[in-house]
Amino acid sequence: MSNIVAIVGRPNVGKSTLYNRLTESRKAIVDDFSGVTRDRHYGQAEWTGKTFTVIDTGGYVHGSDDVFEAAIREQVLIAIEEASIILFMVDVTVGVTDLDDDIAKLLRRSKKPVFVIANKVDHHQLHNEASVFYSLGLGEIYNLSSMTGSGTGELLDEVVKHFDDVQEEENTLPRYAIVGRPNVGKSSLINALIGKDRNIVTPIAGTTRDSIQIHYNQFGHEFMLIDTAGLRKKTKVRENIEFYSVMRSIKALEDADVVILMIDAAEGIESQDINIFHLAEKNKKGIVLLVNKWDLIEKDHKTTKKFEDQIREKTAPFTDYPIVFTSVTEKQRIFKAIEAASKVYESKFKKISTSKLNDVMLPIIENNPPPALKGKYVKIKYITQIAGKSPMFAFFCNLPQYIKDPYKRFIENKLRENFDFEGVPIQIFFRQK
Ligand code: GDP
Ligand code: GDP
Repeated sequence: MSNIVAIVGRPNVGKSTLYNRLTESRKAIVDDFSGVTRDRHYGQAEWTGKTFTVIDTGGYVHGSDDVFEAAIREQVLIAIEEASIILFMVDVTVGVTDLDDDIAKLLRRSKKPVFVIANKVDHHQLHNEASVFYSLGLGEIYNLSSMTGSGTGELLDEVVKHFDDVQEEENTLPRYAIVGRPNVGKSSLINALIGKDRNIVTPIAGTTRDSIQIHYNQFGHEFMLIDTAGLRKKTKVRENIEFYSVMRSIKALEDADVVILMIDAAEGIESQDINIFHLAEKNKKGIVLLVNKWDLIEKDHKTTKKFEDQIREKTAPFTDYPIVFTSVTEKQRIFKAIEAASKVYESKFKKISTSKLNDVMLPIIENNPPPALKGKYVKIKYITQIAGKSPMFAFFCNLPQYIKDPYKRFIENKLRENFDFEGVPIQIFFRQK
């Protein structure tokens, strides 16, 4: 269901250069919004209309060479388990190294599609050099120059052929994913909800298991919980705990309708949380944010508001989503969290009738028309909601290309004020009529 492409390989072969190339435009947007300076290692990419998540492995680990190599091997195993497609990058200017051979060995055992990429093939003379990589025993070699971009198209044409196109599920129950950094309380929340201890531990190697899904049907709510917490991996390398949790979160997120993002009240919202938040937003998932371990915080009458403001400021411009302050251990507001998720789910799939949309929005637009550009006036004639898995609205007008972002945001805010899309990313299109 999810299309996750992981780039693996030893350091310096050019993984992050390719990653940046594939995620270019989106990365700039995210960084502007969040003000996060830390490197991001995963993001959205698109090729011929197909979107997918790209993960740049390697970036998570720092340390001595020994630690590094162990960590890289482990990341390859995690990628084999969690990603749908693996890009194994090697460096044509260096040839086959021992670590390349090690990685190839792990990949040969995997059943996932693996693409061997000979990178730094910057000019034609180097094409023949890449044939040394056939010795890795992984089949066809794709020549690439991450730096110039040459070869990217040929590679992606093949990669997208492996994507799952069918997203429809037989099961029509709402699907909520509980995601968040290690130790925020995900397992505790699930245990509190389903009322028993699952205590599932699986080693990294060998097992291939999709995210665990739990059927919840109590107190008037029925849904599937997609659990990322249950599989608590015994990673040998501490830094990989984060890598692993990110992989799981991405995967769960792609499978979900609503993402329940948990953060730890004592730690506040951190860059990884914000990255997951934006990934959910870009994937058009509903979002509920839980500030858990609220019991640990000393409070006065302003504390909640202050927390909320700080969080929303960091996720801006998307700020219209529920924040619930929970204490799983004290059983506080757990049910409220579930109700928030259900409400977001309903909003995500609701349909506003065309007549209602026009009755409400046209007068607003009349009072606040789009600013004239080059002496031309934009006339918005009518509005309709487009069918889909998340709310999309088409505004039909004479000069769609003249509508700028600030006006788009104004329109989005008015839609939100009038129709309640709390927790739901919405898309607005201006179309020629
Ligand atoms: P990573 O450690 O695998 O993520 O590698 P980087 O993306 O950081 O790249 C390592 C070095 O190789 C950097 O100096 C890049 O500029 C360089 N590099 C990456 N791709 C290419 C390429 O296609 N051609 C050449 N000549 N250099 C490249
Ligand atoms: P996970 O890694 O996200 O699944 O986190 P866990 O559910 O394993 O919780 C990590 C630790 O935080 C455990 O010791 C929990 O008992 C504790 N914890 C979870 N929720 C709360 C809470 O609301 N308040 C406090 N004080 N501790 C909590």
